[in-house]
Amino acid sequence: MMRQYELVERVTSYDPDADEVLLNRAYVYAMKAHGHQKRASGDPYFSHPLEVAAILTELKLDDATVVAALLHDVVEDTESTHQEIEELFGPEISQLVDGLTKIKRLDLVTKEAAQAENLRKLLLAVSRDVRVLLVKLADRLHNMRTIEYVKQEKRARIAEETLDIYAPLAGRMGMQTVREELENISFQVLNPDAFETISSRLERLREESGNILADIEVELTKQLGEQGIESEVTGREKRPYSIWRKMERKHLSLGQLSDIFGFRVIVPTIDDCYHALGISHQVWHAVPGRFKDYISTPKQNDYRSLHTTVIGPHRMRVELQIRTWAMHDIAERGIAAHGLYKDAPNAKMAEAGSVVPATETNAYRWLRRLLDLLAEGDSPKEFLEHTKLELFHDQVFCFTPKGDLIALPSGANAIDFAYAVHTDIGNSCVGCRVNGRHAPLMTELQNGDEVEIIRSKAQNPPAAWEGLAITGKARAAIRRATRLAVRNQYAGLGKEILERALSRHGAQFSKKKFTQALPRLGVSATDDALAAIGRGEMASSDVLKALGIESEIKTTKKAPKPGRRGKAGAKKRSIAVRGVSEDLPISISSDTGAVPGERIVGILTPGKGITIYPIFARALQEYEDEPDRWVDLTWDEREENERYPARIKILVHNEVGALAQVAQAIGENDGNIENLQMVTRAADFYDLDLSIEVLDVRHLNRIMDALSAQSLVNSVTRSNA
Ligand code: MN
Repeated sequence: MMRQYELVERVTSYDPDADEVLLNRAYVYAMKAHGHQKRASGDPYFSHPLEVAAILTELKLDDATVVAALLHDVVEDTESTHQEIEELFGPEISQLVDGLTKIKRLDLVTKEAAQAENLRKLLLAVSRDVRVLLVKLADRLHNMRTIEYVKQEKRARIAEETLDIYAPLAGRMGMQTVREELENISFQVLNPDAFETISSRLERLREESGNILADIEVELTKQLGEQGIESEVTGREKRPYSIWRKMERKHLSLGQLSDIFGFRVIVPTIDDCYHALGISHQVWHAVPGRFKDYISTPKQNDYRSLHTTVIGPHRMRVELQIRTWAMHDIAERGIAAHGLYKDAPNAKMAEAGSVVPATETNAYRWLRRLLDLLAEGDSPKEFLEHTKLELFHDQVFCFTPKGDLIALPSGANAIDFAYAVHTDIGNSCVGCRVNGRHAPLMTELQNGDEVEIIRSKAQNPPAAWEGLAITGKARAAIRRATRLAVRNQYAGLGKEILERALSRHGAQFSKKKFTQALPRLGVSATDDALAAIGRGEMASSDVLKALGIESEIKTTKKAPKPGRRGKAGAKKRSIAVRGVSEDLPISISSDTGAVPGERIVGILTPGKGITIYPIFARALQEYEDEPDRWVDLTWDEREENERYPARIKILVHNEVGALAQVAQAIGENDGNIENLQMVTRAADFYDLDLSIEVLDVRHLNRIMDALSAQSLVNSVTRSNA
């Protein structure tokens, strides 16, 4: 295991300003925290964070990243807490560790492949700081290096996840060496036979072609040197996984694969790159169509090089990658490489065309900026391909309190979240906590939010939620629940209607008798029958007949005719009245309105519910011969400031300023005008038909008095329908 001083020396070797005290403290803290924990290999657990830190020192990352690597497993796996980390190591480190803890929790819940895509997007979305991803990649790399100790049945899943998520992520971040190593270990785990076949074929080729790697290295270095180009040429075999991919992609057999050797030609300047390209094409034949200029057009991960393939010695196709040292560093280490140049933008840097300004004091500020660019997705510098970027850009990822990941479209709120977890949770949702704090249900959720839904058994989702939810699932569920609630209301209404009809015949509702009569009514369920009565689809007289009770008087055989009554109080509100069970739909007639203090009566309308009228409403005359439908109602205690509608008619002089007088009088007396219509009666007068909202009848009278006192108002009356 690496010693404490070795680790510190490694960091200070490339960063003399590194905070040694911090590094030492983290080393000791993590070692103590993991205590006697062991890895699957039998090694002390602490060897793992230490190796992860070591990988990051190879990438020459800053002290904070190395410290975060040492601490990356302590919050989830030991007694350590977030607060403790923050107190001991400060906010920067604690945020890095927090990001890693979040990702680690995800690992636990992403066992299903279906979540893989989500995880990849989340990784990018929650990692506000790219260093979190760097530590995570190093963590995964060390876990893959030691995967032989993991139980056989778990290996495949881990390898698949690595291949699906972490290897491409490393690639997009430009870290090719990490990517290749992740890919090859995964490949070996997932397809050991293919791995073996390719490896042994490579072995044989190596023997057949003799010293081809060395031959080409020497030849190329010599040719370039003769032209005055100082170069370093290194050859290497392609890795088994990339050969396998190529075989799959091009449907080739291993025997048909020829270009399995690649060479890197590293030269001092960009000019030298193009010069070296020309020389190699003179010495060997170029394979047409294989030249790519990633210097003038870099890849999105900032990768730059010239690529070409030539027919080399032994008629072997060899691939050449020609680049400068700075380009090489970025190609190998990706975004981790940029940190190297933080203080000293030198010739290499300038030539690499880096975007790092010389004055950048925080080496990673620009990395954060890059991540921001990723999120915005409008920059040519973005290093993710655009499609992938859109995928995570329009989604938001949140957690349940248990740590389950819920992916939602961006803009989603807690209502969507609740329904995404489970329909029952959505239907019983009454409130929420976001990150431990109470928040309005329509709060737009952000990446990484932990959402706890507060539930109530009594709750039915308000129909208005359908307009608030943005996910189809939530909307459909709300619609379904609303429909069911309405059906229950109709059933209640039907029961009310039936009870009234029965009581007029001196009978009482009996569920048993009613159920027995159902076959005669052609309905199978009690609630369906009651709802049918409530909706007006089944006449109560028919039910009475089925029950063996003769109907002598006129009842509600005919459906209510449309017209004025049809318009009545479309708006649903909580209306404080007594005399009717709570689950019945109630509305106030919009023809007249009704305000507390006025005597009122309810009219039961099948298919509609109860409509409240003031006792003086002319519309009531229509129901005089249908006493079953009358319900005695009284006002109940009300919330303070709760308002009720009243309709009034005002005869006004047709003069400029009349309308202003009316509006002013109502406003000064604290009335709300809800609706207003003008009907011309004669040249010099018009009727104003007003709907106003008031607290009670006294309030209404005060307003009517004030209106009457206006010079341009002729008369004020309560609309009588
Ligand atoms: Mn770990």
